[in-house]
Amino acid sequence: MKQTFKLGTILGIPVGMHWSVLVITALIADILARTVLPAADPAASAGTRWAVAALGAVLFLASLAAHEFAHALVARRHGVRVGSVTLWMLGGVAELDDEPPDARADLRIAGVGPLTSAAAAVLFTGAAAAGAALDVAPVATASLSWLAAANALIAVFNLLPGAPLDGGRILRALLWRRRGDRTSASHAADRAGTTLGHAMIGGGLVIMLLVSWFNGLWLALVGWFIAGSARAEGRWTDLRAAAAGLRAADIMTPYPDHGWSWQPAGPFIEGVAARSRQSVFPVLDVTGDPVGAVTVDRLSRVPSQKAGAALGDLSVPLPPDRVTGPDIPAITLLQLRPIAGDLLAVVAADHRLLGIITTADVQRLLRHDRLRRSRRATP
Ligand SMILES: [Zn+2]
Repeated sequence: MKQTFKLGTILGIPVGMHWSVLVITALIADILARTVLPAADPAASAGTRWAVAALGAVLFLASLAAHEFAHALVARRHGVRVGSVTLWMLGGVAELDDEPPDARADLRIAGVGPLTSAAAAVLFTGAAAAGAALDVAPVATASLSWLAAANALIAVFNLLPGAPLDGGRILRALLWRRRGDRTSASHAADRAGTTLGHAMIGGGLVIMLLVSWFNGLWLALVGWFIAGSARAEGRWTDLRAAAAGLRAADIMTPYPDHGWSWQPAGPFIEGVAARSRQSVFPVLDVTGDPVGAVTVDRLSRVPSQKAGAALGDLSVPLPPDRVTGPDIPAITLLQLRPIAGDLLAVVAADHRLLGIITTADVQRLLRHDRLRRSRRATP
């Protein structure tokens, strides 16, 4: 996630925070200080209310972090590598680097988040009750009650059955266990997420028009985010299934047209680029190693008086992670963003160019996989 700053490392897991968390913290402190706490004790001074409200907002963030940490720790127990925990506007994200190994692990990793929020709700309810019994300041018990309600809401909201929410993961795990097929279970959870997101957008618009524009807008935004994430996960599910067991060499376009870094642009355009079907060309150095890529768009912007310019000067440099061997698992390449034109990676070995992988290769992979599956579905 961009615009994220690091807070540190807890239990070996890096914790980050997106700037939007500051907005949410301020919003929560504002709601507590100006609405919730004055209702609990109209006599409390502004200074007391804001101090208690700020503490409440921080405790709210801490309970969000606890929810994500629960996911991360259970994932780690099941051998899933955890990249980081990041807090942002709509809650938190525990970024897992691997997929859960089986349906049981999937269920536990997903389920423990809402369970933690529910436990926090119980804890805050107990603290509020104890505070009331001990006659502590009403603003303190009111903010504890508010925290209990907020955590209960988070638990319930996250249990809604659609990806990317925890409820969607739970749905996936249960279907996975029943069908024994992770891909079809993921698809069902992704579809449920898209439907859920659209329903929330619709509900949000109705609330916006009839009840409260702010609450409606908020609901619609969350729905829009859920639908978008579910669609992205659906695409990822497709890619995973299509690329299962394949290597870079299996999905690349082999022996592509290419240029040399010292080669003048003019002759290359006339001799190669103008006749090629490719829209991007790897550029090799004297040793035969790919060092850059030049697109047709870039070449078409070369004025005729600059036809002597070397391809090396016109090309985008290739970062080391974009030059891969032929045996790399294909799935690791499919998440990459294009670096030049539609180029994702260049495949090479022993100073020899073997192929290129473009977004067109990925599209072809997906189409072929759909075709294979349709043949299997209709015998
Ligand atoms: Zn969760």
